[in-house]
Amino acid sequence: MKKTEIIREEDVYRNTKEKLDKVGCGMCLAKWTQATVHLQMGQTHSCHHPATHKIPLAEIKYNPSALHNTRFKKLKRKEMLEGKRPKECNYCWNVEDNSEQFSDRVFKSNESWSLPHFDKIANSNWREDINPTYIEVAFSNACNFKCSYCGPSFSSSWAQEAEKYGAYPTDDKFNDISRLKSENKMPIHHKDHNPYVDAFWEWWPYLYRDLHTFRITGGEPLLSKDTWKVLDYIIEHDKPNKELNLAINSNLGIPDNLVDKLIEKIKIIEDRGLVKEFILFTSVDTWGEQAEYIRDGLVFNKMWDNMNKVLTQCPRVNVTIMSTFNALSVPNYKKLVTNVHNLKLEYASNDRYWKSAVFLDTSYLRHPAHQTIQILDDKIWGPVLWDSIAEMDFLAAPKFHENLVGYSDVEIQKLKRSYDWMTSKFKKEEKVHVQRRNFGRFFKEHDRRRGTDIKNTFPELVDFYEHCLTLK
Ligand code: SF4
Repeated sequence: MKKTEIIREEDVYRNTKEKLDKVGCGMCLAKWTQATVHLQMGQTHSCHHPATHKIPLAEIKYNPSALHNTRFKKLKRKEMLEGKRPKECNYCWNVEDNSEQFSDRVFKSNESWSLPHFDKIANSNWREDINPTYIEVAFSNACNFKCSYCGPSFSSSWAQEAEKYGAYPTDDKFNDISRLKSENKMPIHHKDHNPYVDAFWEWWPYLYRDLHTFRITGGEPLLSKDTWKVLDYIIEHDKPNKELNLAINSNLGIPDNLVDKLIEKIKIIEDRGLVKEFILFTSVDTWGEQAEYIRDGLVFNKMWDNMNKVLTQCPRVNVTIMSTFNALSVPNYKKLVTNVHNLKLEYASNDRYWKSAVFLDTSYLRHPAHQTIQILDDKIWGPVLWDSIAEMDFLAAPKFHENLVGYSDVEIQKLKRSYDWMTSKFKKEEKVHVQRRNFGRFFKEHDRRRGTDIKNTFPELVDFYEHCLTLK
């Protein structure tokens, strides 16, 4: 009988950690292989956990790859190669020092876009430039939405509001333009010349051939001419990168002609097999008019119709719904869970990159603190959230039958993680008090500026909201 070797996932991660630790206790491949570049602000980071830092214009003048290979980042790589732990990576050191879990430095280094490059990176000189294999790029902050938890750096509509009315009257002066200016995070207007975008296009032909994953974020990417330029480049390039995972975010609340144009481009890319897979990322945080309130600009039915249109006309594409799970998501999340399952049933197909067609990716909101699920009374709202989890569990893909469709373990775990965080025993009452006070202040001003009505839209939260307004 043939002996089958079973390799446990945990052993794989342990091996990767040992390899990394031999180079240094702070070694992480993501510092080289992964980048998020906010071209609208001229800021970058690797990975997405450390704070962003400014990309000096002098550095990209002769070396466009400095959009990723900044001198700042190279000094962090030096620390890693010399056995130190860069302070900016605290997210990982907290996990490693306070639990038995593997941190993201292990998970990200173990990814197929990182691990094959281990030897090259471990033996490199810290001064060397390297192309990332996984990159997320925002070309501009042009956006027709003003989601309540977003801000001027990522939305031109937010920027206009903040210029007109100033900061919100929360303790931290939410979305204060003068603070953004002092932090060098004021976006370049999307109609103005942007030297960071110029540098990107100079770098792109060299970047494209090495890429494993390219994701365009924003702003609303479909409002940026550079997004269309990327799609046309892929369509027209004589040596396509057929290993590329291409992903584009869209709020799907843009004019019909842009949705149709996207579908047309996706069809060409798919029919000619120009990429490995295409994923459309969209966003919604609960159901119906409550979702519209959270994401100002959203017309819920329009977004839902557009999602159906893409899934109908693009038979291979997958859609990921990013759900920024916040205090206003809780009352009606179950409806979203049920209806996303209906989409899975309707569009599941073996022709798609993943059979289940639609993935509900729930991540709990951390900032701004005044809108997180931790401000809710978990004795009242914990059971409501648990009801959504129970619905997901009920609609899970049965493991005994590979042809049946439903929620995956990951989707369920991510919502459970939100429940754990909401009910965490480490929540500090004093902080919750301040955050509730700010919740009241923020939404009172929100309704005044935008002509919305939180009490009408969320009858379930009227008592809570009125209580927040009384807090000193
Ligand atoms: S050590 Fe952690 S925070 Fe730093 S780059 Fe790696 S994964 Fe990101």
